[in-house]
Amino acid sequence: MIYFDNAATTKPCAECIAAIGTALTEQYGNPSSLHSFGYAAQKCVDEARARIAKALSCEPECITFTSGATESNHLAVRGIAGTYGNRRRRIVTSTVEHASVRAACDMMEEQGFEVIRVAPDENGQITPEAVLAAVNDQTCLVTMMLVNNETGAILPIPEIFSAVKAQYPDTVTHCDAVQGFMKLPLSVRSLHADLLTVSGHKVHAAKGIGALYHKKGIRLKPVITGGEQEAGLRAGTESVPLIMGFGAAVSALSGNIGERFAAVSKLRETAETMLSEIKGVTVQSKAPCSPYVMSISVKGLRSETMLHFLAEKGIFVSSGSACSKGKQSGVLQQFGIRQGAADSTLRLSFCAENTAEEIGTFCDALREAQSRLVHKRR
Ligand code: PMP
Repeated sequence: MIYFDNAATTKPCAECIAAIGTALTEQYGNPSSLHSFGYAAQKCVDEARARIAKALSCEPECITFTSGATESNHLAVRGIAGTYGNRRRRIVTSTVEHASVRAACDMMEEQGFEVIRVAPDENGQITPEAVLAAVNDQTCLVTMMLVNNETGAILPIPEIFSAVKAQYPDTVTHCDAVQGFMKLPLSVRSLHADLLTVSGHKVHAAKGIGALYHKKGIRLKPVITGGEQEAGLRAGTESVPLIMGFGAAVSALSGNIGERFAAVSKLRETAETMLSEIKGVTVQSKAPCSPYVMSISVKGLRSETMLHFLAEKGIFVSSGSACSKGKQSGVLQQFGIRQGAADSTLRLSFCAENTAEEIGTFCDALREAQSRLVHKRR
């Protein structure tokens, strides 16, 4: 099988699987229990927290575990609106966010917040100037993603957030960094992010685990309430296995972000070269772009048709964004991609284990799809 759908989810690494096994067999205590067996589980959770914190260059107490990036994004948006929203009722975001940020912002809009959605310009970029023009002293939150999950576009978050902070120091900045975490070198400080979302299953850990970084002093109204777990920010017994697996996966990747970036960049170049030789194929992702995500369109073929044709050959890609399950999110159009091209879009998303040979096999399959399916349609 050839797996080019790593932006949808990744294969759990051996370190993650081993840590989950250890948790399930040896550390099944409840971290909230007052006895030593519970305390041992809490120690494992805190060790994993320290690992995530190290990867983001922050203090462990600034990390809260959640069920994934969707929940982290809700905690960020609704948590800030809930705390600061009495006095400041504007939220600034972009038109290309993941559905979870969009949904959280929509919820706040229904509750009377003013939500300003900044669109990319004709170059597919969101500039600090465009964001600043949308922010005022009534703005409680600016929330923007680092790497777009459909195109790989990298937004200039350090420039955007530092410009916002310089003029509006009380406005909280949140970054959905899911598609950049452990792929691009990043730290919360260099991004000027007060809040930052990451997800486990995009970095070779298990599904159902994520985290939210929150800078010291930022107050968040919890979304899930009940017990006092996670310093009262996220009630519910911690999933020790998933948390330990997340910590182990992040540690395993930590030492070689640069090497993996170089390997994936090379792979991406190979893909661009090979695809440029196929008539009717356009690479839609424009620089600056993460090498890990590549959006292409294939003239005359519909995404779903190609997806199924490739899947039958054991080649797995995505039609656009995996979360939208065939339903278009409109994000491609926001990046200036015409409807016709959007309907013919495939998203290839890589990991360091993918090979140039796999790219070759994919290109052969694409050629075959063109000759068989385009022909059939005539
Ligand atoms: N944000 C982005 C940018 C994503 O790509 C995804 C996953 N598609 C999410 C948030 C949601 O992540 P999770 O599956 O962990 O809820």
